[in-house]
Amino acid sequence: MSFKPANSIQDLQYFGEFGGINPSISDSSTYTFLSAKTMFDTFEGNTEGCYLYSRHSSPSNLYLGEALAAMEGTEAATITASGMGAITAIILQYCEADTHIVSSRTIYGGTYAFMKNFLPKLNISTSFTDITDLEKVEASITEKTKMLYCETVSNPLLEIANIEALSHIAKKHNIPLVVDNTFSPLSISPAKLGADIVIHSLTKFINGSSDCVGGVICGTKELILKLKDVNDGACMLLGSTMDSVRASSILKNLRTLHIRIKKHSENALYLAQQFEKDGLRVVYPGLESHTGHHIIKKQLNPEYGYGGMLTLDIGSLEKANELMELMQSKNLGYLAVSLGFYKTLFCAPGTSTSSEIPLEEQEDLGLSNGLIRFSIGLDNDIERTYNIMKECMIALNILTPEVTLN
Ligand code: PLP
Repeated sequence: MSFKPANSIQDLQYFGEFGGINPSISDSSTYTFLSAKTMFDTFEGNTEGCYLYSRHSSPSNLYLGEALAAMEGTEAATITASGMGAITAIILQYCEADTHIVSSRTIYGGTYAFMKNFLPKLNISTSFTDITDLEKVEASITEKTKMLYCETVSNPLLEIANIEALSHIAKKHNIPLVVDNTFSPLSISPAKLGADIVIHSLTKFINGSSDCVGGVICGTKELILKLKDVNDGACMLLGSTMDSVRASSILKNLRTLHIRIKKHSENALYLAQQFEKDGLRVVYPGLESHTGHHIIKKQLNPEYGYGGMLTLDIGSLEKANELMELMQSKNLGYLAVSLGFYKTLFCAPGTSTSSEIPLEEQEDLGLSNGLIRFSIGLDNDIERTYNIMKECMIALNILTPEVTLN
């Protein structure tokens, strides 16, 4: 039977400070100790179960972390102020000077920029490889490699990582497999497939209302305590901490994630199937034509579907821009980066979210400048949406009326 992460979230029960059915929001940056000895012990490293200062942890962050750990099936989780706050912390926790990372070459532009431009300043290098070519991945690992890094469903090309196979490679070389699961919460549970550490940008589907940024690192209890260690924990010392009010509001949104993901998936699958029939160059992991379809199908928690992300290659940046502007003017969604909103969001990643990747490398990856990345919304009437999208494409000669009459 497949894992049902939404059940794990719902199985948590809350009794707030005054019997409230939501946990009370912790409104303190610091906490009292009943004895000076306990305070001393806490700073000596015995922090478990103690609140000392809200950069270390706060009740609201712990509640959200507990729910996300339940979702991913890990022992524990720690909340960060953004997805990049999670990514930079986990990398800096594991990698010291003169070490090396093996990373998928198709990853979020900010992560790529951090590995490519920032980490070399600390003498940490990265080999960017085709994550779908397992032999290449293994050949890139050296004795200096400290981490194998990938995204479950990659941004923006929607490549699918074979988590089980990658985890075997990582285990063989005694390095952790770190998986960014931002594009596929609930649909895929990387830790259940062998990933050691799962991270998310909470900014996207998990929060789902595009009103804040946030992140999480899910892993063993030992790792999470290490990240928060007062002497050398990257989360504690780099200071990317989420505010309690935000943590509490994200926890409330998390409870409807399963309903939203099912609808995002249903709508994206419908559009992808229609676009494919229309002869458009559409990429969606739920289509059999997707090169990673058989892998994602094997890894999927099927009730949640293949997710809300799809791409369309319109052929040129000019046409892509015209189409996005027209779709926005028809109220089909917003020309905006990010994902997981109730409205569809679209952008041309080559000139936005992946613009950190040099042009030659974009071409090499197959990231063409006519590519539009869609985060499909929760449209109640996706058939109506499709018809209006089709009209936009006909108006711009991307589709001909004859083709669409079939
Ligand atoms: N990971 C992925 C796959 C992303 O798409 C993003 C942002 O777009 C991030 C991480 C970074 O998250 P944040 O913007 O919350 O720092």
